[in-house]
Amino acid sequence: MHFTTPRYLVPFRPKRVPHYFTDVLIIGGGLAGIRAALGADPRLSVLIITKDGLQNSNSSYAQGGIAGVIDPEDRFEDHVADTLQAGGTLCDPQVVKRVICEAPRRIEELIDWGTRFDTAEGHLALGREGGHGHDRIVHALGDATGKEVMRAVTERLARLDHVEVWQETFTIDLLTLEGVCRGVIVWNQEHGKTLVWAKQTILATGGAGQIYRETTNPAVATGDGLAMAYRAGAELRDVEFVQFHPTVLYIAGGSRSLISEATRGEGAHLVDRHGHRFMPDYDPRGELAPRDVVSLSIVSQMEKTRHPNVYLDMTHLDRQGVLSRFPGIAAICAEFDLDITRDRIPVRPGAHYMMGGITVDGDGRTCLPGLWAAGEVTSSGLHGANRLASNSLLEALVYGAHAGEGASRAALGLKDDFFALPIENPPVDSIGEPLNLDDIRNALKSLLWRNVGVRRDGDGLAEAGQTVQHWCRYVLARQFNDPGGWELQNMICLARLMIEAALEREESRGAHVRTDYPALDEARWNRHICFQREGAGG
Ligand SMILES: Cc1cc2nc3c(=O)[nH]c(=O)nc-3n(C[C@H](O)[C@H](O)[C@H](O)COP(=O)(O)OP(=O)(O)OC[C@H]3O[C@@H](n4cnc5c(N)ncnc54)[C@H](O)[C@@H]3O)c2cc1C
Repeated sequence: MHFTTPRYLVPFRPKRVPHYFTDVLIIGGGLAGIRAALGADPRLSVLIITKDGLQNSNSSYAQGGIAGVIDPEDRFEDHVADTLQAGGTLCDPQVVKRVICEAPRRIEELIDWGTRFDTAEGHLALGREGGHGHDRIVHALGDATGKEVMRAVTERLARLDHVEVWQETFTIDLLTLEGVCRGVIVWNQEHGKTLVWAKQTILATGGAGQIYRETTNPAVATGDGLAMAYRAGAELRDVEFVQFHPTVLYIAGGSRSLISEATRGEGAHLVDRHGHRFMPDYDPRGELAPRDVVSLSIVSQMEKTRHPNVYLDMTHLDRQGVLSRFPGIAAICAEFDLDITRDRIPVRPGAHYMMGGITVDGDGRTCLPGLWAAGEVTSSGLHGANRLASNSLLEALVYGAHAGEGASRAALGLKDDFFALPIENPPVDSIGEPLNLDDIRNALKSLLWRNVGVRRDGDGLAEAGQTVQHWCRYVLARQFNDPGGWELQNMICLARLMIEAALEREESRGAHVRTDYPALDEARWNRHICFQREGAGG
C-alpha cells in the first residue's frame, strides 16, 4: 500500500509537558468504556478520558435496545443463528456463542445497577428488530434505551473513588516504546498537551460515522481510536464493512435523526413517493429484512421514483400505542410539524455502525502488548460482515467487562513506576498555506458517501482512492495544534484504509455491496482483510 502516515500527529518532548500516572487508562466514556471501568479492580487507579462530555457518545443515542434471550420461548441457538446469518460467514461462531450466552447476565446486571427497562404485565417488554426471529430486544424510555442505560452506569461510576474522569480531553496518540503501549498523549484547553502513562490502556473510542455526509452518529464519532491504533502498530480488520441504517430522518436543515428499526418491528411500512409499499418487491421478509437489504432497496426505489427519499408510514397503527412506544421520534418529528400518527416520515439511509475495527481476542486484548479494546472500535468476531440490530450495546457490555477485568489482572502484576519514558516526536517545518480544514472535511464526507456508500464499484473506489491519497500527501505531512486538524487526519487515514479494503474485496457480502461483483465469492473472499502498519516500532 502506498500510504505513509507519521507515527505521531503532534510534536512533544517529555521535558516540556506535564505527566500523569495511572494503572488502567480507558479512552472513551461510552458504554464500553464505562463498563470496563466498572469491571476494573478497585485496588487500582482508573482514569477515563473522553473528548466531549460523558453524555455525548453513540451509546447515549441508542434507541432500539439490547438483544438477549430473555423469553422462555426463545433459545440461545436461535439468537446465535440470527447473528451468524446477518454476519455473512465472517463471524467467529465461538465468539458469537459466548457473547449471546452472556447477554441475560449482562442485562440483569444493568437492572441491578438501576436501569429501568420498559415492562409489560410485570415482565421485561421485548421488541423485535430486522433479522431477529424472536422478540428479544429489551428497551427503555420507549425509544431512548441509550439515555437510560448511560444514566444508570454513569451514576454507578460516580460512586467509585478509584475512578477519575477527564472530560473534554482529546486523546491524540497512543505512546509506544519497544513494541509495548505505555499510555497516551492528550490535549485539553486547561493543560495543553499531557503525557498519561498507564500500566494498561483500553481503547473504547467508538465508531466513525462522521466520515460520511449522511450519518446517525454524533460529532464525536470520527474514528480517532482506529487511526491512532493503526499508527501505533495494532491490527485493523474488516474496515470495508459499514452498516447503513435504512431509515434516517431526511428533512432539509434538520438533524439526521435515526428512526428506529423498532418502528418497522411494530408494523410501520416503507412507501415511496406514490404511496406504494415497495419492500415486498425486493425481499419476502419485507420491512423486517436485514438492514443492508432494506438500505439497498430504498436506494433503488429512490432512483426508480427519482425522489431524494422514501417514507416511513405508521398512520395505520394504533395512535396511542405509537406515541407511547416512540415518544422521542414523535417529539423530533413534531419539531418539523410532522405528526407521526398522521403524516408519513421522510427517510433515507445513513452511515450507522462500523463493523470493522481493531482486532481483539475473546478478552479484548489487541496484538499490541499493553493495549486492550472494547465496543464499536473493535473487530471482535461478533458482527462479521454485518451487525444484527441491538447486538452492539451487548458487545460493548460483554467486551467492556472482559477488557476491564483483563487489563486489571495485567496491571496488578506490574509494580508502580513513576518514570517518564524517553519517547519524543520532533516538530516538522510548517509547510505552505494554512489549510481550510472544513472544506477538506466536507469534501471527504461527500466523497465517501458517493463512492464508498451503500453501493460501491471498482471505478468509484479507485477514484476515491486517488483523491484521498492526494489529500494524505499534504494533510498528513502537517502538524496541527487543535482537535479539528487531528480529527481530519484520523478521518483521512481511516478513509484510505476503508477504500483500499473495499477495492480489494471483489465480491458482495453483508454490508459491502459491489455492483461490479454482485455475488458472494466464498472461494476467494471468505476471509478478513487486515491492515497493520509496517515498522510502527517505537
Ligand atoms: C442513533 C444510534 C442508535 C443506536 N441504537 C442502537 C441500539 O438500539 N442498540 C444497539 O445495540 N446499538 C445501537 N447503536 C449502536 C451503539 O450505540 C454503539 O455501537 C455503541 O453504543 C458503541 O459504544 P462504545 O462505548 O463502543 O462507543 P461510544 O458510545 O460511541 O463511545 C465512544 C467514546 O469515545 C470517546 N472518544 C472518541 N474519540 C476520542 C478521542 N480522540 N479522545 C478521547 N475520547 C474519545 C467519545 O467521547 C465517547 O465517550 C446505535 C447507534 C446510534 C448512533
